[in-house]
Amino acid sequence: MNSCPLCLADQGQELLTRLTEAGHSITSDSKFCDSLTGNCYSCSHCGHIYNHIRGSLEKFYVDQYSLLTNDILQDQLIFIGPEKTMARSLFQSNLLHKMVKLLPASEPLSILEVGAGKGLTAKSFLDIAIQEPRQDIEYSLHEVSISKYKNFWEKINSHYSIVNRKKKYDFVASFFTLEHCEIKNIKTSYLDYVTDGGIIMLTVPNLLSNAGDLLVIDHTSHFTPDNLSSLFDNLCGNQFSYSISDSVFPRSLVILLSKSIGEEKLSYMLQSLDQHQSMTNQDLKLEKLLNDLSQSQYFISHVNANNSLEPFVFWGAGFYAKYFSLHMKNSDPLALFDSNPDNTNQKFDFTNGSHSQVFHYSKLFEYCSKNSIRNVILTLSPTDAALLYQQHSSDFANVNLTLINPWRCPS
Ligand SMILES: [Zn+2]
Repeated sequence: MNSCPLCLADQGQELLTRLTEAGHSITSDSKFCDSLTGNCYSCSHCGHIYNHIRGSLEKFYVDQYSLLTNDILQDQLIFIGPEKTMARSLFQSNLLHKMVKLLPASEPLSILEVGAGKGLTAKSFLDIAIQEPRQDIEYSLHEVSISKYKNFWEKINSHYSIVNRKKKYDFVASFFTLEHCEIKNIKTSYLDYVTDGGIIMLTVPNLLSNAGDLLVIDHTSHFTPDNLSSLFDNLCGNQFSYSISDSVFPRSLVILLSKSIGEEKLSYMLQSLDQHQSMTNQDLKLEKLLNDLSQSQYFISHVNANNSLEPFVFWGAGFYAKYFSLHMKNSDPLALFDSNPDNTNQKFDFTNGSHSQVFHYSKLFEYCSKNSIRNVILTLSPTDAALLYQQHSSDFANVNLTLINPWRCPS
């Protein structure tokens, strides 16, 4: 039974099937994985969007999750503006520094980071914090698999302690962990750790500005501002006040919760953290997003039935390239082109095990001409793909190339 993990209502509406013939899925570290698969549902009773997964998530994180098993200092990049990236741990530690200045005075100030991963955010935060004698800070880390990550933590910083499960903390922070967890464990994973006067800060991907989140197999829940509100209303509405912002963290939602600080004050705190204009595309409702995803299925079946596109290349983001590569059976692009110079020269894997280098966009026309390629498929979010198609399709036609937006049904 695929009942809703939150309200236990019977099987929800199926949004997306991730079962592919090859048995591969895309994971949150942007890799292919053949040990996890499953479908995505929306609960018609409570609005929760969840994955029903076949395979062991725990085993995946211990054995295969490249972000946590690769080079200790390897970090993800986040887009903080057009073509502008920043190391994720640095962005997160900046946010912690800003929050610490807003928190009620407490000496020492105790911070707990839940889902601390390799401890990169803690390192980045503590490197600066220990030089600021103003604040006496106790920083503790918590990870489900503490025994594994303790080795990482010891290597990169000694100014931390491991979670004390009996202690309450002034500030509980957790970056991009909730979407990996069993939703019913929110209370014991986060809420039980905070003092009565303290604050919890959680970040999760925002489905409305990051449509690709729905494709990620190991994100067991997917959040919009609406369903995140109703989640916390249902789980702790009479115990905690909360406020949510979509403009603090790019393509993500930040939620602050507290037992004693009211919603208005929490909302004021979030506004002072604001770094961006609202990232949520107001026109993009969930229905529109799902419609776009279903359009891509038409494109994929059309290509699979006709086998008419070869040879072709992808232009856009690696994540969406993986999505289309995964579903376009018997068709593999010759290369991936990316406009972001940070991504060029990296290795791009295809589902069949082969790989290509990621080329910079400036080489696209030359490459296509040299290799007699006629078709270029845009691998971007539906919104970005529509924009780029509009801007560039005639330039491409002028050099005998067809630019294809795979979120639109082929005519
Ligand atoms: Zn439900």
